[in-house]
Amino acid sequence: MQPVDAERARQLSLFRPLGYQRNSCGYCKSDDGSQYFPHLTLTGLGHVDTSVLGASYFTSSVAVRPEHYEELVNRGWRRSGTLYYKQNLQRSCCPHYTLRLEASAFQPRRDQRKAVNRWNKFILGPAYMRKAARLCPRSREEKKHRKCHFNLRSAVHESEYSNVKRPIDPATKRPLEPAHRFEVNIEGDSVSQAKFELFVKYQTTIHREDVSRWKVKDFQRFLCSGIKRSPASLTKSNALEKKLGSWHQCYRLDGKLIAVAVLDLMPSGVSSVYVFYDPEYEQWEFGKLSALREVAFSLENDYPYYYMGYYIHSCQKMRYKANYKPQYILDPESNTWDPLDGELAQKLDTRPYVSLSRDQSSTAATESSTNPPFEPDVNEEELSLFDIHMPGVLTLDEVKALDLDHWHLLFHGTFVEMIDLVGWEDMRFDSPQSVKGIIAELAAVLGPRLVRDSAVVLFD
Ligand SMILES: [Zn+2]
Repeated sequence: MQPVDAERARQLSLFRPLGYQRNSCGYCKSDDGSQYFPHLTLTGLGHVDTSVLGASYFTSSVAVRPEHYEELVNRGWRRSGTLYYKQNLQRSCCPHYTLRLEASAFQPRRDQRKAVNRWNKFILGPAYMRKAARLCPRSREEKKHRKCHFNLRSAVHESEYSNVKRPIDPATKRPLEPAHRFEVNIEGDSVSQAKFELFVKYQTTIHREDVSRWKVKDFQRFLCSGIKRSPASLTKSNALEKKLGSWHQCYRLDGKLIAVAVLDLMPSGVSSVYVFYDPEYEQWEFGKLSALREVAFSLENDYPYYYMGYYIHSCQKMRYKANYKPQYILDPESNTWDPLDGELAQKLDTRPYVSLSRDQSSTAATESSTNPPFEPDVNEEELSLFDIHMPGVLTLDEVKALDLDHWHLLFHGTFVEMIDLVGWEDMRFDSPQSVKGIIAELAAVLGPRLVRDSAVVLFD
């Protein structure tokens, strides 16, 4: 394998394996399905209610490249700040299915169109709308077209201040002003006092959390330290370049920050990480407004897919995601995409874990091809990942076929290869306590491409 020079080091993502761990379920325990901060539910970090359990493989990283994150997302991973995790969907009371929308095929529903139109009306205000209709009237065709056609891209931008027509008002001899000045900008994911205060106001009001739960450093860790960003800062010359990495879409009303959407931009997709807004504007349905704006953003900037995060069929509060169509679900075993409608939705109504690819292969084969039943008395955290049969990860044989000997290891600031480790060749792949066992499990969950394009962080 080629030696790691400075240029090659920049191309690598770094992963620190944390292993397979049980965690309490953030969904069926609370009635609030919109938030999940897995760092708060990991075993070892606090009490775990064993009646509601999930299990995931975890890794942490401060350096993941956007194209590598896309590869992970398309293998069922997601991140919470610098913590990356892939759930074992077969072992969870509320399986987290990866969901994505085909942006170019999106058809907004009536309630979604209505939310945008209501917001635009509020921003422009009745006085402006009345006068503007007189000062710059629309043609009959234009009026008719607007009535029958909803253009998502023009609708979400309609009331932004830079797009608002401001003809001279003959009565005042000054430009006609809308009721509010509304602006939306995409900015780096840096932390600011205004963002933090807005976040705390949102968490304490909408999610009724205690104010003591969030400190600036927690907020920063979860929403301001994402995947690598390019370009690092926005200038006029690079404004048109395709943005990648972790960004904040900031909504300002009359100069005041009222909402922030945290976005991960990947080569082929926009992933919505979180959105928080000023509770005073709750009636305007910022969940819908931000999702629609993000679909439009995907279309305008050539990201074919919009990812709304995980979909949990059993969680009523998550069902809204299915209202953005057409949605596709990642098959947990074959890593292929199936439409959420039809057969898949029907099956999810009857059982929590569904893999259509497995269903197809097991109807063709015999019943014995299904996984062994879960034994609740066995502590899976002590087993090798290869004995758990976690869906969507490589088998032991597939991992053995990879070139783990030459996988990069970042060791006290220097890149070495696994084979350089003392005793590496004598260690077993399926011994979960050995370094090789830990490395092999990480390889199994990351998949072959990332083994080539990453380095492992251990022992520092
Ligand atoms: Zn649950």
